[in-house]
Amino acid sequence: MHELSIAVNIVEMIEENAERERADKVDKFEIDVGTLSGVVIDALEFALEEAVKDSICSKAVWKINKIQAKAQCMECHHLFIMDNYFTSCPKCDGFGKEILQGKEIQLKSITVE
Ligand SMILES: [Zn+2]
Repeated sequence: MHELSIAVNIVEMIEENAERERADKVDKFEIDVGTLSGVVIDALEFALEEAVKDSICSKAVWKINKIQAKAQCMECHHLFIMDNYFTSCPKCDGFGKEILQGKEIQLKSITVE
């Protein structure tokens, strides 16, 4: 399962961070997940519950922020929301676009004790 390896990765990242700060416990963490990242948020929630067991964040609460994908049209520079990779510009119908956000899966913040 794709989400489980992502969850394990996130927990590893948190552990590295906590170690650097010499923390014994992680209280909170936040993750940004883009709508184009291919991650199913419900599945990630479920996977995290498994991944945090016996880790430094076993007692942590977490928040997953869903980042709506946005792009800028390369033709008319219009900014628009993307529902998927094939969304064309709503203004000029152009397909050329630069994706500004929405592909990321990243650890946004952690709170340690
Ligand atoms: Zn356009």
